[in-house]
Amino acid sequence: MHATIFGTGYVGLVTGVCLAEIGHDVVCVDIDAGKVERLRKGEIPIFEPGLEELAERNIGAGRISFTTDAAEGIAASDILFIAVGTPPDDDGSADLTYVLEVARTIGRHMARPSIVVNKSTVPVGTADKVRSAIAEELAARSVDMAFDVVSNPEFLKEGDAVNDCMRPDRIVIGASDATSVEQLRRLYGPFVRNHDRFVCMDVRSAELTKYAANAMLATKISFMNEIASVAEHVGADVEMVRLGIGSDPRIGWHFIYPGAGYGGSCLPKDVQALARIAQAHGVEPQLLDAVESVNHRQKGHLFDLIQRHYAGGSLAGKTFAVWGLAFKPNTDDMREASSRRLMEQLWDAGATVRAFDPEAMDETRRIYGDREGLVLCDSDYAAAEGADALVIVTEWKQFRSGDFKRLQRMVKDRVIFDGRNLYPPQQVEGAGLAYYGIGRGRSV
Ligand code: NAD
Repeated sequence: MHATIFGTGYVGLVTGVCLAEIGHDVVCVDIDAGKVERLRKGEIPIFEPGLEELAERNIGAGRISFTTDAAEGIAASDILFIAVGTPPDDDGSADLTYVLEVARTIGRHMARPSIVVNKSTVPVGTADKVRSAIAEELAARSVDMAFDVVSNPEFLKEGDAVNDCMRPDRIVIGASDATSVEQLRRLYGPFVRNHDRFVCMDVRSAELTKYAANAMLATKISFMNEIASVAEHVGADVEMVRLGIGSDPRIGWHFIYPGAGYGGSCLPKDVQALARIAQAHGVEPQLLDAVESVNHRQKGHLFDLIQRHYAGGSLAGKTFAVWGLAFKPNTDDMREASSRRLMEQLWDAGATVRAFDPEAMDETRRIYGDREGLVLCDSDYAAAEGADALVIVTEWKQFRSGDFKRLQRMVKDRVIFDGRNLYPPQQVEGAGLAYYGIGRGRSV
């Protein structure tokens, strides 16, 4: 089958490459000419495990191509995906500028009956707006042509996106037309050969499903971070509590890790956008507002611990090694990353940061350039060398077994702030370092 995808970000590019991998002919359209140029050469602008090899193979086989020419993309197929960004507006609502621009472009060039499939995360009712935008452009051309707009929210996780796309938990399709559902079942079928993982529903429910999924995940994280705050104050260890509750299958093990707050391009913006949707329809989003404010507080928690350790004294002139800059492991994405808030707080306090991340160094350079107070280091231990304290912000695998003896020699003030609870406090302390984790109060 033929598919055209608008937007070559995390969602569009991964979807395009995976559809090509199962034998479809895919055209990816993006307005970013530089990105398209790089993609044509097989250069993948993001770090996503497995993506580069897959892209290389499918570009080589001629199953996927990249263009800035929307008309060319629209002419190539009758299944047209929208996978462009929906960043937050000033008030946190999803900004639909890019989605509606693609819809108008489709309306201007559509030359045969088509299915328009929206993969971007959008407020309930957006499919109707997309439909109207296309219809207006068709009317302006005096063209009367059938088309359908389907909601197909994306659930891939950055860092495991290829796997999620090739072996999805579920494929949600919101459509009112049975033919559209059938077409998408054929397109995606090879991904779900063993089990029928299609969940078909009406368009509005599909649009809401995506927000509900992300809001639930954010809620679990903020819940656990709130329990961590309680643990810290009552002399309990949240890691023990986590083991105690995760073993209940009704609660489960996933997403109950306390930490330095959630970030990334999805959870923060989707919680806010859902809250704005609720408000716009007269529902007070009490829980969602709390989830967001707990997260905001949590992102400042590492800095609070640092201040507590230094007893409120000045941090000016201090140097902090920061391990992990990406918003989570296995990605180079730093959008809304907890590391950014921490580094900015440290800089405001006059401190210097020696930073290391296994994948996000280029992204850090792009965001902060030659900022005063930032030293980019080649390795984790190079960052720790000569620092006054070590702060762990992202739980990359390579940080999981720290050489505490070595760190004790390197880190001048002999203290570790562990924003992801990677280390057993007793082991760190046994090596002669002070240890601060998240929610690791101890009664003895
Ligand atoms: P992104 O910002 O990485 O990429 C968006 C791309 O769209 C950019 O390359 C941009 O140049 C391009 N674009 C903008 N306007 C265009 C136009 N008119 N025509 C063609 N291309 C255009 O975005 P993303 O992270 O891939 O997210 C896309 C959508 O999917 C968002 O709504 C997001 O919330 C949702 N989503 C993201 C993830 C994720 O993990 N990143 C997961 C699920 C859903």
